[in-house]
Parts: sequence; structure tokens; C-alpha cells
Amino acid sequence: MDLGRYHAGLVPQDRTAGRKLVAQEVRVGFNPVEQHPDFPALEQGVLARWKERDVFARSLAERADGPLFRFYEGPPTANGRPGVHHVEARVFKDIFPRYRTMKGYRVPRKAGWDCHGIPVEIEVEKELGFTRKQDIEDYGVAEFNARCRASVQRYVDEFERLTERIGFWVNTAEAYWTMTPQYVESVWWSLQQLWDADLIYQGHRVVPYCPRCGTALSDHEVAQGYAQAVDPSVYVRLPITEGPLAEQQTSLLIWTTTPWTLISNTAVAIGEGIRYVQARAAGDDDPVVVAADLVSAALGEGASVLGEVPLDALRGLHYRGPFTDADPDDPPAAWRSVTVADFVTTTDGTGIVHLAPAFGEDDMRVAREQGLPVVNPVDLEGRFDRRVPAFAGQFVKAADVGIIADLRERGLLLRAGEYRHTYPFCWRCGTPLLNYAKPSWYIATTRLQDRLLDENAGVDWHPEHIRDGRYGDWLANNVDWALSRERYWGTPLPLWRCGDCDHVTCVGSLEELGKLAGSDLSGLDPHRPYVDEIVVACPECGGGARRVPEVIDAWYDSGSMPFAQLGYPWQPGSREAFDRAFPADFIAEALDQTRGWFYSLMAVSTLLFDRNSYRTVLCLGLIVDADGKRMSKSRGNTLDPFQLVDAHGADALRWLMLTDGSPWVNRRVGSEQLTQVVRKFLLTVWNTYYFFTTYARIDGWSPADASPTPVAERPVMDRWVLAELAAAVGHVDAALEAYDATSAGRALTGFVDDLSNWYVRRSRPRFWAAADAAESDKAAAF
Ligand SMILES: [Zn+2]
Ligand SMILES: [Zn+2]
Repeated sequence: MDLGRYHAGLVPQDRTAGRKLVAQEVRVGFNPVEQHPDFPALEQGVLARWKERDVFARSLAERADGPLFRFYEGPPTANGRPGVHHVEARVFKDIFPRYRTMKGYRVPRKAGWDCHGIPVEIEVEKELGFTRKQDIEDYGVAEFNARCRASVQRYVDEFERLTERIGFWVNTAEAYWTMTPQYVESVWWSLQQLWDADLIYQGHRVVPYCPRCGTALSDHEVAQGYAQAVDPSVYVRLPITEGPLAEQQTSLLIWTTTPWTLISNTAVAIGEGIRYVQARAAGDDDPVVVAADLVSAALGEGASVLGEVPLDALRGLHYRGPFTDADPDDPPAAWRSVTVADFVTTTDGTGIVHLAPAFGEDDMRVAREQGLPVVNPVDLEGRFDRRVPAFAGQFVKAADVGIIADLRERGLLLRAGEYRHTYPFCWRCGTPLLNYAKPSWYIATTRLQDRLLDENAGVDWHPEHIRDGRYGDWLANNVDWALSRERYWGTPLPLWRCGDCDHVTCVGSLEELGKLAGSDLSGLDPHRPYVDEIVVACPECGGGARRVPEVIDAWYDSGSMPFAQLGYPWQPGSREAFDRAFPADFIAEALDQTRGWFYSLMAVSTLLFDRNSYRTVLCLGLIVDADGKRMSKSRGNTLDPFQLVDAHGADALRWLMLTDGSPWVNRRVGSEQLTQVVRKFLLTVWNTYYFFTTYARIDGWSPADASPTPVAERPVMDRWVLAELAAAVGHVDAALEAYDATSAGRALTGFVDDLSNWYVRRSRPRFWAAADAAESDKAAAF
């Protein structure tokens, strides 16, 4: 059989054969093949040839008239050297566009780089040895951002090197960079659209806040950082100060896992349908009020119930606060009293909830209803300020120990223990997040929730269960997008606020900004601090308007790539280009992007164009080490992709990624797995070809002089292997059509195995046969 035809593409030495096969008249021989190949070296040869002949560009040019298959590249964040997980995504982002190209489609692939955001800032902060936001201010925002830009450039170079080495065909020369003025202006245009539609607002809400990064996080960022944590669990007495319960030395019993918030205690809440009792822990003299259902859970074995306490006897009752340092001078009547709220349950705790409006959303709502002050003695770096002398300067969570000791000393601590639960940490820097009351800018995504759900219903998810499961649940619990970040290196929020009348103007381009400022700003770098220096005239009162200090969430940048990669709508031709390229037929990224790019891409497009921006999405699993642990820098178990491909070859790594189980299962990657791929698959292919060329050369056989015996007259072995080949081709085609690289790989592995271990092994004597014996049979075998 004609192995040369099927394997010519795999064997770089065989370039002459591969080409001349086309011209059937020319008689060709086969170049000798090394018995023990050096795959990485062979790949270098292929890469050099691709480069020399500009093969990727030609593969696109040859399909210039083909139907369009649209692919969007999710931009990696250029905040560090690429890892093995980047290879995974890039391998899947390569195979399906290649397959479609082979099927006749035109598949333009524009690379992209995510340049902004806290990850990039953190990398530069590390370089400079910074630990606080103030360090950046002292250093200078212009200098800091220049270093961010340089850092991005440096890492993009690394990414490009990896992209080329692993054979990912994507246009890096014309990549989109989210930090270019063209991209930023496009994002500004989109924000202006949302602003005009009244979809952007400033809200004073309790937000998840990273005290190290000094910024609020969006819900989808918070969702990425949950981890197991051990926090204190404390039961604290709050002595009642009025009425008969006070005469009996009774306290309200509250439970918290954040003792540091007790300093900001403002009120407590009880629940309408909950039964409360006066009870006493074994060996304790002073009774407490607690929910009847929680007596033994809160007070332990041997607790005794003294009697019922009606809800009305509790409502409005005042108590003594656990701390008084930060108390307001002139508190309102409801200060430190019992209020009734709808969120109180008896699933855990005591049925009496401690409220600290500065650090809880429910707490804040009650405070607003009751006119209670927001007591916040915690600075933007998460430390107690001077109002709390005993703990001033301490990070709040670090102060827990001292706070608990203080409560114990004053007889207010009934019990203390540990509480294991999942707690949100900053997904970038690992600092525990705090709920923190501060103003932030939001996009009102909840107003489009139904549209998002509708659009999601039409997406072809792989695996399918993500649509109604992980992602659908996420959309069903949609909250408004916390858009602003109090940071430096990002797309500046294009809002200018009037110093006189407070009117806010949203700017959609540099041209518009120039018009408002009365100067030509077309060459302005649209980043901090340069945009901050631009003062525009307020259209309402003519006063001076300055930009708000925030930049935006970098997830909004990457979610804008369908239009911003084209500089839409300002760049000439961008409208037409966008209409052609939207929406994507195919995207693929890691599974954790359900709350990242998959969401931001869908949300931004639905907000702006009332439709989603992708049809098929392939989710990829995590890369884990040989022990099944997730690779991370902090664990020190990451692998350098360059070292892996230098040692085993990119083909081995690609094959492992594509075929080792479903794309969305976690996969183990290490030298051992790659050695297996080389030994079991690549060398099997190679040895088969080696065997073939050896005998083809001995016999001087060439496909040009082959006049094969009609298939029907060939031995059953030949007919069988040809049938297997046809079946494998069919399987591979159908599987790749369905975005199933695993099955495609399995079909190929199966065929290679049949070919090598059955066909070649059983047919060896036919190749060995003397030149005169059974000539036609031998030719058929070749
Ligand atoms: Zn952080
Ligand atoms: Zn004004």
C-alpha cells in the first residue's frame, strides 16, 4: 500500500518525495530515514521550512474564496512566562481552525494579548519590591505604567516564541493588544453606548475588596478565588442594658467568624418566625438569649432552658457593645438595639445576627432602613486606623487573636473555636478578601439577565452540561458588574465629573475628548496619568470637569475583543470587518473562564448588540502534575513548556493534550506521560515508515511506477487495512466536525496500531520476497 502518500507530510526529510508525488510521471525514490529519530530536531526543520515558505499565510491565501469560519482568540494575560496550560489552550485553538481550513474554509486567526490589569501591575510591583499602593504613587504613575507596558512587551515576546515553537498557526504580526490607543478608544465607545443607555451607575455598596490590591473585585473575579480557610468561630455575649432581662444579668448571644468586625458592631437582628429562649450553659451563672433550635449547638451539652422570650420582649432592646473605641459621638436611638430582619435563620449561629454595616451587604441594608451610622475604622489597606488604639496598624484578620483575648478577659466570650469553610481570596494575589463599604461603578447586567439566559440557551457548549449547570447557574445568579478598579494600569473609565455641578460626561473617543477640551488630543496616550490631566468644559454649566480616578476591570477589555480588535467603530473599514467577523463560530479556553472570558464576552456583546458573540465553545480542563495536583507557582510544581518540547517534541505534547481523555477533564502532564506518547504512538508511526522506506529503497520502488492491482483482486489483508484506513478517515472527520479531538486521536491510534502490529507484521515476507517472486503481490503491499 502507498504509505508514502499518507506519511509524506510527517517526514521532513522526505520533502522531495512529497512534492514529486503530485507529478506522477516522475520516478522518485525515498530518502533514507533515521532509525532513531530526534523528534525535536525534526520539528525545528519543519518550523524553518514553514517560515521560509510562509506556509501559514499561504494556507490562508489558498482559501481566500472559501466560506468563512470565524475564530476568536481569547487573549492570554501577558503577566508572566507562558505555562503548560497555555500550550493546552493553544493546541485546541489550533487543531479545529486547521481542520476547517483542510475542509475548504477560510479561517483568519488574529492573535490577541491582554495587556491591562492588576496581574500586570502585580508583576511590576514584585520587580520593584512594592507592597502597597502608596509605593506606586511615590514612584510616579507615569513611570509605573511605562514599566507595565515594557513588562507586557517582554512577556508577549515569550508567548510568541512558544506559539511558533508548538506550531500554533495564528497571526501574531497583526495581533490585537488591549493597551493600544485604538483598542482603548473602541472600549470607550462601548462604555459610552452603555452610559447613554443608562446601564452604568455609581453605587455605594458593600463590595468584595482586596486590601492588598486596594480595589474592589467583580463577582466573577471573586468566584475564581474560593479556597478552604480556617477562621475563628466565636460566641459573644452582648449584655442587655434595660428591662427585666437586664436585671437577670442576661446577654444576647451572637456568633461570628470575623471577630474583627465586632469593633464596628452597630445593631443585632433577630428573625420573625424564630422562637427565642433564655438559657444557660452548664456551669455558667449568667443566662443568654438564643434561638430555641440552637441551644445545644450554641451552648453545648448540659445547657438548661430557663424560659421563653417573646419576640416583642426583644424588639428594640438595647445592649452594651463588645467594643466602644470607634463609636460615633451622637448615635441615633436605634444604635445597639435589637431589630427584626428577614435574613436571619437558624441554620447555624445563635439566631441573633451581629450587624456591621461597613462589612456586610445585609447589614448595610438594615443600617439604611434604620438610619444607623456606618462605622468603618479600617483603612483601604485593611488595617485598623487610629480610632482603635489597641489594634491600630494591624491587618484586621491578624487582629482577631488579640480581639478574642480581649473579649475573654472581659468575660464576654462564651466559647471560641475554629470554623472551616470556603472563603474568597483575591484570585491574583491570594489575600483574603474583605466585604467593604465603598463607592464603585457598576454595569446593570441584571437588567439584561433574561436576554443573557436566552442567548446562553443557543450556545453549543462542550461539554453540554455547562450550559445549564456551571454557566447557567452563574447567569441565574447574575449581579451587576462591578466595573471600576481603583488602580493604575488599565483602560481609564472615560467619565469626567464637573467640579461645580457634579454632572458626569462620558467620552467615547480621543477626538470627542479633544473637542471638549478645546485641543487636538489625537496623539494622546489614553492611559493614566495623561488622561487625568485633561480638564474638559462641563456641558451643563461650563465648569471644569475632571476624570474620575478609576480604571476599568480588564475582563471588560477582553470581553470587548470582537469589536475592539478592529478598532470598531472608529477605524476605517471596521464596521464592515465587524459585520463579517461576528459572531465567532468557535472559541476554546479553560473551564474556569465560565466566570471570566466566556461571561465577559457574552455580557458585553449582549449589552451592545443584543446577541452573544460565540456559537460553539469548548471548555478545557486543568493541567495537573504527575500527582494530580493543580500546577501553580506557589506550589513550585509548574513545568516549563519550552523544556518539555525541547526534550520530547511539540508533537508529543500536542498529541498528549489532544487525545488524553476529554478536553475538559484535568490532565496529567509530565515527562513520563510524554515519553509514553513518543514510545507508543510517534515511534510506532515512525518505525512503520522506516520499515517501508528501507524496503522501497532496496527495491527501488516508487509510487510513480506503481500500477496497483485492483483492490478486489488483492489479498484479504490488503483489503482489510484499506477498509480500516477509510474507516479511520471517516471517524477522524466526523469527530473533528463535532469538536471531539479525543475520538479523532483514538481512531488514528487504532489505525496506526492495526497497520504496524497486524498489517506490517503479517506482510513482512511479501516485502522481503525476491524481486522476481510474486511481483504484483509485492507492489500491492507497497
Ligand atoms: Zn489582591
Ligand atoms: Zn457642571
